[in-house]
Amino acid sequence: MKLPSIIKNKWVIIGTAATVTVAVILFLVLRRKKKGGGKMSGKYFTISELCKARSGYDNTPTEEVKTNLQHLIDKVLDPMREAYGKAVNVTSGYRSPAYNAAIGGAKNSQHMKGQAADLQTKEGKEGNKRLFEIIRKMGNFDQLINEKDYSWIHVSYNPSGNRGQVLRYDGQKYYPMA
Ligand SMILES: [Zn+2]
Repeated sequence: MKLPSIIKNKWVIIGTAATVTVAVILFLVLRRKKKGGGKMSGKYFTISELCKARSGYDNTPTEEVKTNLQHLIDKVLDPMREAYGKAVNVTSGYRSPAYNAAIGGAKNSQHMKGQAADLQTKEGKEGNKRLFEIIRKMGNFDQLINEKDYSWIHVSYNPSGNRGQVLRYDGQKYYPMA
């Protein structure tokens, strides 16, 4: 039996279209699953960018650190970035104890738990200050620090309880900010 070629072509086109549609849907579903189910990043920040270190240092996060970083992204970094509306650079996130010591970080630094990030905007001190006020207004943080007259901002989030401290650091001491 020979089908007229016009019908045959129609079925070839429908078959191809159906295959492509199924493939696209499958791709989107799998990608979505990976994004949400993996829980390895947020809308604007990834765990891997929060674990960057100078070369020569092992800065691999533990599972506990990853969980803390995910909280930091979900509760502070993503909402703050959304409100700021422009790129925000994380200059330092997680630091392994060895890395923290090497760069002269505080002995009990929350960076070592994956609970803190240092931030800078591309708009300099003016932008950093605006970002600082955004985070302060949101109020969902453990410590928010204006570092050396808004040269950069330090923010931390502690899943087991936040103090909501707002501080200023002049290079030597910390002062409470009104
Ligand atoms: Zn810091």
